[in-house]
Amino acid sequence: MITRKSGWMDEDLEIFSDSVRKFFEREALPHNERWNQEGKIDRNFWNKAGDAGLLCVTIPEEYGGAGGDFRHEAVIVQQEQWTHFSGWGNGVHSGICAPYILSYGTEEQKKRWLPKLATGEMVAAIAMTEPGTGSDLQAVRTTAKRDGNEYVINGQKTFITNGQHADLIIVVCKTGDVSGGAKNISLVVVEADEVTGYRRGRNLDKIGLHAQDTSELFFDDVRVPGDNILGGDEGRGFYQLMQQLPRERLIIALGSVAGMEAAIDVTVDYVKQRKAFGKALLDFQNTQFVLADCKAEAVVARTFVDEYIARLVRGELTPEEGAVAKLWACETHCRVVDKCLQLFGGYGYMMEYPIGRMYTDARIQRIYGGTSEIMRLLISRAL
Ligand SMILES: Cc1cc2nc3c(=O)[nH]c(=O)nc-3n(C[C@H](O)[C@H](O)[C@H](O)COP(=O)(O)OP(=O)(O)OC[C@H]3O[C@@H](n4cnc5c(N)ncnc54)[C@H](O)[C@@H]3O)c2cc1C
Repeated sequence: MITRKSGWMDEDLEIFSDSVRKFFEREALPHNERWNQEGKIDRNFWNKAGDAGLLCVTIPEEYGGAGGDFRHEAVIVQQEQWTHFSGWGNGVHSGICAPYILSYGTEEQKKRWLPKLATGEMVAAIAMTEPGTGSDLQAVRTTAKRDGNEYVINGQKTFITNGQHADLIIVVCKTGDVSGGAKNISLVVVEADEVTGYRRGRNLDKIGLHAQDTSELFFDDVRVPGDNILGGDEGRGFYQLMQQLPRERLIIALGSVAGMEAAIDVTVDYVKQRKAFGKALLDFQNTQFVLADCKAEAVVARTFVDEYIARLVRGELTPEEGAVAKLWACETHCRVVDKCLQLFGGYGYMMEYPIGRMYTDARIQRIYGGTSEIMRLLISRAL
């Protein structure tokens, strides 16, 4: 069991962290293997998480949330890694979609959607990426055209986390000229059960995160009410997305820090009991040095990301710092897990050992939420 005390933790957060761990041990881990085989978690896990107060922890109580702050979100993210429960799309649901609605939604929108997200009655997804564009978000081609009191949405999205379960989808659309840039982008909310013309594609076959559903989504003349545009005004979508990015990137960075801590822990256990040439692997100086390097990288990453969490809670984290955190923590995560896997020898290549899953799960960290190359671009622009 991993317990680490960050400077931003307090006694209440310790208690919360313990209850999150117990919840995962009771409600998730017994099913983890099956969920990995089936490519998604059980739908009712969302409701159980809602009942346990784990959804929308940063959303005020008046909208059904737990009234916490980013630190509560952080506690959940790191317990997922520490307990080896990978593949729950709560980072998107509670960490991205709910804060979008809270930050930009009209009062009516907040009251309409947030309580359902907090109980798990609705599962949320954010649909930015399209088959033709990912990093270059301004090039999206999905359109939402005004027609009387409605918007008519046409287009296709791909790689959407929670795609199979989601019934509330924040869709990045062009409300203006489709070949135009940022000013033409709006966030339009689609309630899957309320519309026709919306279709989920297949659950995509990924190399990791096997229990997380990731899908293509199709929008074919999907009509939504005119007031489903987030915040009520057209053309603000790109600005809204950019505002939230430091927070989203810090969630991913923190997942990487906790992921490397978990990888080091399982590796230390393994090298203590595995023998070669008559002694434990840990007795070889190479093993000690490799793990010392990993530990040093994880401690630096932890200290650095903890400082940024404190900055975010104080409202000081800049977009550039969010990019630095994501770039450095995610690149380091992949390096550390790779070194750990090597110490397992052939067993590291077997999915029955947690290190194998940690390795394949880690690889996405350098890609989603903006690739490492895009992080470098953002950092270099601010030099
Ligand atoms: C498991 C998973 C879950 C995801 N979840 C979601 C989700 O919930 N919602 C969502 O909208 N999207 C999601 N994504 C999509 C993800 O955010 C994109 O895959 C990512 O942003 C990269 O876009 P792309 O795949 O189109 O790659 P591309 O943009 O085609 O990039 C290909 C390569 O070119 C590089 N590149 C691109 N532009 C530049 C440049 N200017 N300079 C240098 N190099 C460049 C990239 O870094 C990359 O290495 C998910 C993806 C995966 C795999």
